[in-house]
Amino acid sequence: MTIAPPHACKDIPDEQFLTAVDDAIQIRSDDDGRQWVWATRWDVAAVLAGRPDLVGIGEACDPSLFPPDLLSAKIGQLVRRGVLDGCACGCRGDLSRPGGTEPERILRSDSAS
Ligand SMILES: [Zn+2]
Repeated sequence: MTIAPPHACKDIPDEQFLTAVDDAIQIRSDDDGRQWVWATRWDVAAVLAGRPDLVGIGEACDPSLFPPDLLSAKIGQLVRRGVLDGCACGCRGDLSRPGGTEPERILRSDSAS
């Protein structure tokens, strides 16, 4: 599930981005043995770049994995629409999913409103 090379927000399907957030949270939980409820922007970048092995470690911060500006823009878009919780300012993000981790359900209820 790698996107290469994305140039604009529309190149990243919402569902794929939200699934990457879910995956990153799950990988953190599996690695740690505790249930995580958020992931960093770098975790999500690593999953999107096809490097889920980098979730939770410093190498995920390598900006060549995924364009940082694009990551911020996409996070901002999804936060404004209410399908993602977190911060797009460029900090670690603390990205989580309002109402749990089912992108299909959330996207459906979003488009129905
Ligand atoms: Zn921030």
